[in-house]
Amino acid sequence: MTSLPLSTPTGLQPPAIRGCYLLCLDQPYFHARHYVGYSDNIAQRLQTHRKGQGSPLLAAALAAGIDWHLVQVWPDADRSFERKLHHRHGSRLCPESRCRSVQQARRQQLRLPLAVA
Ligand SMILES: [Zn+2]
Repeated sequence: MTSLPLSTPTGLQPPAIRGCYLLCLDQPYFHARHYVGYSDNIAQRLQTHRKGQGSPLLAAALAAGIDWHLVQVWPDADRSFERKLHHRHGSRLCPESRCRSVQQARRQQLRLPLAVA
């Protein structure tokens, strides 16, 4: 396994394109640690989220002092893809090592097979 350089704490630069995106919260907000969204313009959408609009979860997290950042983008993905993403656990989609280690610990607890479709 190759060790990748650590990602910047600010996450990915939001692209001004249409697609789905995954936001990772710096700390869990109750049970939530991730947010999946769809937009015609991801960069613009994230600016809206920054103002506390567009998502009650992200607004509440910001109000609680919990920041979030972009960790994954699926260019050109549509709303049906977004729905599929919503059915998956965010930590399984998130490339952040701290989220992956949570996922690995959970998998060991549940004794699930390592290969997940
Ligand atoms: Zn994450």
